Amino acid sequence: MQPRKIGVVGTGYVGLVGGVCLADFGNRVINVDIDEDKITRLNNGEVPIYEPGLKEVMQKVVGKGMIEFTTDFKYTVENSEVLFIAVGTPPREDGSADLKHVLTVARDIGRHMNGYKVVVDKSTVPVGTGQLVKSTIQEELHKRGVDFEFDVVSNPEFLREGKAVSDFYSPDRVVIGGESEKALNIMKEVYRELNDREVPFLFTNIETAEIIKYASNAFLATKISFINEISRICEGLNANVNDVAKGMGLDARISPQFLQAGCGFGGSCFPKDTKALVHIARANGFPMAIVEAAIKANEEQKMHMVKKIEENLGGVKGKTIGVLGLSFKPETDDMREAPSLTIIPALIKSGAKIKAYCPEGMKEASWRLADYADNIDYQEGPYQVMEEADALVLLTEWDQFKNLDLARVKSLLKGQSFFDFRNVYLPDQVEREGLDYFGVGITRENRDVIGYLKQAYGTSVSGVE
Ligand code: NAD
Repeated sequence: MQPRKIGVVGTGYVGLVGGVCLADFGNRVINVDIDEDKITRLNNGEVPIYEPGLKEVMQKVVGKGMIEFTTDFKYTVENSEVLFIAVGTPPREDGSADLKHVLTVARDIGRHMNGYKVVVDKSTVPVGTGQLVKSTIQEELHKRGVDFEFDVVSNPEFLREGKAVSDFYSPDRVVIGGESEKALNIMKEVYRELNDREVPFLFTNIETAEIIKYASNAFLATKISFINEISRICEGLNANVNDVAKGMGLDARISPQFLQAGCGFGGSCFPKDTKALVHIARANGFPMAIVEAAIKANEEQKMHMVKKIEENLGGVKGKTIGVLGLSFKPETDDMREAPSLTIIPALIKSGAKIKAYCPEGMKEASWRLADYADNIDYQEGPYQVMEEADALVLLTEWDQFKNLDLARVKSLLKGQSFFDFRNVYLPDQVEREGLDYFGVGITRENRDVIGYLKQAYGTSVSGVE
């Protein structure tokens, strides 16, 4: 079978990973971007994002001549039969998804179309975007006075940053929304590698595929906010959220995934996709109270962390706080909506100075936190952030922060408070070294549960008196 000719528009986390992996599936791929610097770096063999395993696959497919990188959009369209749109859909001020990049690409496809094409929307987009892409392309063809057949398909991406390559090779499912059998058969060929391995394929209409993506992300974000709210009750009532999550997660209907309490969700997807879904729902007259509450709980969780630090240190004015981890999760340099971008500025506004280290996030952090640069000292390693610091805060659970030499931590810190906002350590393990441990949803104080019950139910509660 002849390799399919594929154009992938965008060389970000989705476009580059998708382009490289589709080339490894045996397709001929042209990866196009407007960012000249990125394309130059890619053509020099450099991977512009941090994503484990990506460099190796990229070298392999470049070596085999299965992928090329370009800024030439006309060349890409004219030489591809399938065009993936994988550009950003950032949030606008009102929370709705900004479709300007997607629609620019649609217009450019219409301008250069030279025969039948399948236009695949891989960006996360609101319901109705597939039809908008179709009418935008049609308008351009009309302006040119030409009439080429084309199909629009929605193929949302579910990869996780940090595991993007393995997720692309072994997805839980491939969702394809379309209207023509011809396009769906071409998509099956594009993904023949996954089809052969019996990865579940779900074929739907375009609108259903578009909403599957938003519903999935909103559900996962809600699950995180749920356990974070439970963690706050645990703190008040002498319970341990890790054990609560374990007790819940052993129920197969619940599952232990996305049930780890922490300092709030972030990243390029959950915050913007939940806001976009809320916007879509409101605009259509069906407000989604649950998703709105999940967003609010997430904002509160980040500020709850700030409060926890301030309360336990008796204020942070003039104090130095060491921060481990800046990226929104481990194994990525992505800083979009990372909890650190809320927690660090809040601490600085309260008078703290920050010493920070992150294995991959510091370059991104330095411009995203540029307004606070005078109060942030970036360090070269984890132990440097502790030197002379009044407290240590673990914000992202990178592997290298999971086995800290706690005796060394104690000897380097000026203070003795260790805020573990990813519940990586056990309280006893930390306190044995003479440090004070503060996790999320794990209280070391023996709270007055009986007193609470009396207050809530009166003295007649059985077993209380
Ligand atoms: P990104 O910002 O990392 O990359 C987008 C790329 O598109 C950039 O390199 C940009 O220069 C390029 N671009 C913008 N306009 C262009 C144009 N007109 N022509 C060519 N290139 C153009 O974005 P991302 O994280 O890869 O996300 C892309 C889409 O995929 C978004 O809709 C996102 O919600 C969705 N998504 C992201 C993830 C993730 O984990 N990052 C996962 C699933 C889905």
